[in-house]
Amino acid sequence: MMNEISSCYRCDFETGEPLSQCPRCGQPLRSAKTVRRLGWALVALGGLLVVFMGALTVVIGGIMSRTGEPGATTRFTGGPEDAAFIFGIFGLVISIGLASVVGGAWQIKYGKPNKKIMVVMFGLAIVFLLIGKLVRSFD
Ligand SMILES: [Zn+2]
Repeated sequence: MMNEISSCYRCDFETGEPLSQCPRCGQPLRSAKTVRRLGWALVALGGLLVVFMGALTVVIGGIMSRTGEPGATTRFTGGPEDAAFIFGIFGLVISIGLASVVGGAWQIKYGKPNKKIMVVMFGLAIVFLLIGKLVRSFD
């Protein structure tokens, strides 16, 4: 049977040897088993974040659309740019959650950390933030 692959989070070194430290940069190596366990944690946390923020978006969207109706018990007092800002933040958090889910699923499948997916998803998160800022500056 083949040894489990261990990999280094810092320099992407990979080995099938039972080493506990990276021979290149001295960081502790993570075994495929550990990486997969972390992957599950990422998927669970990311999924929770997405579900929670999704629900919050629906609730707040509902409050905003009912504001001004007679008999509305909760009212949204901000302007459209506040609404855009709030949804920008939600989009940001949701994309971070999605990054965790996708990155975690990748780790579970391959037993290796994947920096590329994380970088791409965090890039998306920054784009969301910039869009939120841009919308906010249009008043
Ligand atoms: Zn290393």
